[in-house]
Amino acid sequence: MCSKELLFNMPVNQSSAFDNATRNALKESISTKNQAFNSFLDLSSSDQKILQRYHEILMQDGEIFAQVFYDYLQAAPSTSRLLKEYEAQGGQISDLIKKQLQHLFGFLSGHMDESSAERLAHIGEVHHRFGVDPVWIMGAYRLYLRHLQRVVRNNEKIADADRAVLEETIIKLLFRDMGLMLEAYWESSLIEIESEKEKVASLQEQINDMLTNIPQIIWSVDIVNGKPLYISPSSRQICDMDIDMPIPCLGWTVPEDRRQVEQAWQEALEGRSVEIESRVIQPDGKQFWFRRMFCPYKNSRGEVVRIDGMMEDTTEIKVTLEQLHTLATTDALTGLTNRTLFHDRLSQAIAAAEREGETQVVVMIMDLDHFKEINDTLGHPAGDSILLQITDRLQGVLRKTDTLARLGGDEFGILLPHVSDGFVSAEKLAEKLLEAFVRPYHYEDNELYLGASIGIAVYPEHGGDVATLMSRADVAMYHVKNKEEGFKFYHIKLNPDAQHRLQLSGDLRHALERNELVLHYQPKIDLVENRITGAEVLIRWDHPVHGLIPPDKFIPLAERSGFIRPLTDWILMTATQQCCEWRLAGYDLRVAVNVSARSFQTPHLVDTIASILGETEESACSLEIEITENVLMADITNISHMLQKLSDLGCQVAVDDFGTGYSSLAYLKKLPLNTLKIDKSFVLDMANDENDATIVRSTIDLAHNLGLKLVAEGVEDRETLSLLMKLGCDSAQGFFFSRPQPAEQFLHYVNTKFPEQEI
Ligand code: C2E
Ligand code: CA
Ligand code: CA
Repeated sequence: MCSKELLFNMPVNQSSAFDNATRNALKESISTKNQAFNSFLDLSSSDQKILQRYHEILMQDGEIFAQVFYDYLQAAPSTSRLLKEYEAQGGQISDLIKKQLQHLFGFLSGHMDESSAERLAHIGEVHHRFGVDPVWIMGAYRLYLRHLQRVVRNNEKIADADRAVLEETIIKLLFRDMGLMLEAYWESSLIEIESEKEKVASLQEQINDMLTNIPQIIWSVDIVNGKPLYISPSSRQICDMDIDMPIPCLGWTVPEDRRQVEQAWQEALEGRSVEIESRVIQPDGKQFWFRRMFCPYKNSRGEVVRIDGMMEDTTEIKVTLEQLHTLATTDALTGLTNRTLFHDRLSQAIAAAEREGETQVVVMIMDLDHFKEINDTLGHPAGDSILLQITDRLQGVLRKTDTLARLGGDEFGILLPHVSDGFVSAEKLAEKLLEAFVRPYHYEDNELYLGASIGIAVYPEHGGDVATLMSRADVAMYHVKNKEEGFKFYHIKLNPDAQHRLQLSGDLRHALERNELVLHYQPKIDLVENRITGAEVLIRWDHPVHGLIPPDKFIPLAERSGFIRPLTDWILMTATQQCCEWRLAGYDLRVAVNVSARSFQTPHLVDTIASILGETEESACSLEIEITENVLMADITNISHMLQKLSDLGCQVAVDDFGTGYSSLAYLKKLPLNTLKIDKSFVLDMANDENDATIVRSTIDLAHNLGLKLVAEGVEDRETLSLLMKLGCDSAQGFFFSRPQPAEQFLHYVNTKFPEQEI
């Protein structure tokens, strides 16, 4: 804005800050005020006359006053600034002064009409708009009055009889000038305040609209006074209740979850941002899952004075996860615990027994005799019906604390978690379980007699971990099967594999240096872009005597013997080198390496990967780490740190065998993950098994809800692939595309099936 036209100098019709309506309203109020001023100041035509008579005399000595006025303007900072600006923009100060004086002197012409009032009002408005204090004009008028008084009192050409009247007229007109101007100044301020208020109100409405529209509840609490500062209107849509303070919604939280909410609040009070999940219960009794965030706000002294936060309904995602978990841990036919959950219970029982000492854990594996014949002769419905009857009878024998599981087909598992005389209890129970097979079973008109074989292993006598106990109970069970003895405890002599495994474990130590280990690559296909994004790296052992040994057989041995560390290092190194080679040859492929539990127990893994990636050319190779859900959740705190470091190194992270463990939603959200790989046990038969298809669909939804990609492994036929594509699965892997193969054949596959692949 230019100051050239400032002060008295602004033409009346110059664009003003107000719109037409406001301007008209102002005009009307000026007219009223003008009349009021003229009347209260008792201004009349006689004042005009006397001014006209002495006009010329009063205008004399204007030049002298110009200097006084100039000095005055220079003395006050606000006006001297305007003068400087005026000069800087090329204006002549002397011209300006002249014009200003013309105005000052203007009232000596004695105009009291509306247009003169409008001009004064305009000046007041301009002063307000440019932030010039009205007080300086008072000073100017005071100076001017003194100047005129001298003329009136001393000039000989003024008749003595007129002096007092003339002086009064001048004073009245000065009052009018100043008054009308100040009125306008004041009015402009009011209008401005009103317009700012409107702007603030509209902004507030916008923000309110926005916060109503988003589904999260946003709030802010003044913790010094324990009062809410803000709660977004959407709170009513989400939970139909008052949000109690100071901890929002604590009163509605289910009692079991309150402690953790209070703890989280305490952490926020201490200055840390926290995020938790808890349940709230509505007045109508409905329960919801809520994710809450508490974000402390500190003042300049670093004290927490406010907590801002958010609440969001996560019920849907939570329910999906729970359903998924139930589906994934129960047997669809009998409703019994499945193998996954059985292993988990066993591992918990072992941990508890370890802590307590002196107690034992009993594991039984029971296999039905001749069950296959029923299925084959009477059909599957008959088999299903018999399994249900057996389940009923077995459950009748067990106590609440024991677990009965269906491990698969016609195999059951029984767990006694906490016994002091394991061998005696196991023997008694086994006999009772076998009694369930004395009476016949019925299907339609058929009376069916079945038998069962039970193998038993006892912790700690027969093993200290799930895998050992299960495999030993299995060994014992097979022994019974051959001998028809009913049940048997494991004994070292029963185990034909033990010696063999010991031998293998020794051989494995030399396998690396003898070049017996090879990596195979299985393509991962992006179903949306229809291209190969990379390969899963799967190790094979080409044993000189036993031939190709699958990883399931020797990775556990390597883990137990400590050989897993050099083995994993070698796999990582070889796979990344292979990836670099492909990239140099123009293929954009990522390698996914399986990393087992033991490798996550030391920081060595991160160091190895950092140094391998450091050695390869920058971004030359793209590495993905596959970690199984069970390993991930078993030691979440430690592993999440490692995953963060790996992610910082540029590695992608995939959760393998997803659906077989217990994932916590809170962690899945927080961890730096990229992909969930649903376990192949759900995929293999999903085209025929509705239960499996439901699990896959829910898992795809879950992954997408969490912002992750979903890979389905174990795709063996076109039907499964079509179903997966229909469900929105991102990537797939399986024999339908290709078996895992050596690098050369893998590349051949890429070239023949996806010739566009090369970049
Ligand atoms: P995983 O990580 O779940 O690997 C997928 C397994 O599924 C592989 O078995 C693969 O050959 C198999 N597979 C792929 N597509 C299909 C299909 O369409 N149908 C069926 N039925 N199976 C399919 P593999 O190679 O025998 O590996 C078994 C497990 O051994 C792996 O399971 C992984 O846990 C472990 N493993 C393999 N290589 C390594 C390795 O380099 N390091 C570590 N730590 N573990 C490895
Ligand atoms: Ca894998
Ligand atoms: Ca897997």
